[in-house]
Amino acid sequence: MREYSKKEMEEKVANMVREFLEIIGEKPDREGLRETPARVARMWVNELISGYFDDPNRYVKKFPVNGKELKHKDIVIVRDIPVRSICEHHLLPFYGYAHIAYIPSVEVLGFSKFARIIEVFAKRLQIQERLTEEVADYLNSLLKPSGLLMVIEAIHTCALVRGVEEPMHMVTMASRGIFETDEALRRETLTVIMGQGMMESGTLRGV
Ligand SMILES: [Zn+2]
Repeated sequence: MREYSKKEMEEKVANMVREFLEIIGEKPDREGLRETPARVARMWVNELISGYFDDPNRYVKKFPVNGKELKHKDIVIVRDIPVRSICEHHLLPFYGYAHIAYIPSVEVLGFSKFARIIEVFAKRLQIQERLTEEVADYLNSLLKPSGLLMVIEAIHTCALVRGVEEPMHMVTMASRGIFETDEALRRETLTVIMGQGMMESGTLRGV
């Protein structure tokens, strides 16, 4: 899929940023901008889109529950997992939190791995809807839970910086298994997930 090595990519992006600065009438060699093309290129290749060079399977460490079906069917909820991604429409960040509820069948996933897995998918050009679906599908095929519910709440800086006064929250949801069919269960779980979520606590208000 990728034509260039990381190093080549950095060089090419740096050249493009320099050209961009020239096009908009700036002087790329003035003091404040001299390092900008290389800095921007490093940031994009190594951080913002590092998910293209990564594989979520690298972070997977599952814990089989004695290799047999779990007796209890309790819901596991992992909340407030940071999400930082880039909107593919404007190449600007969107950021917020993901919440995952699942009902384990034979395997559970180490707590911290959720954040790592989401990060791999998030650090690519995305739209929030697709990010939600991709992570839900990945976790669903990985853990084969009886049900999985994934919610992402995020603020899109493309809306923010273009003059929308109040930060725009977008909430996306993906449900699999029993959460698709059992409406009451989905509603109850959502109440727990969203009850003291960032909407109330104002985590994202301080933009
Ligand atoms: Zn956008």
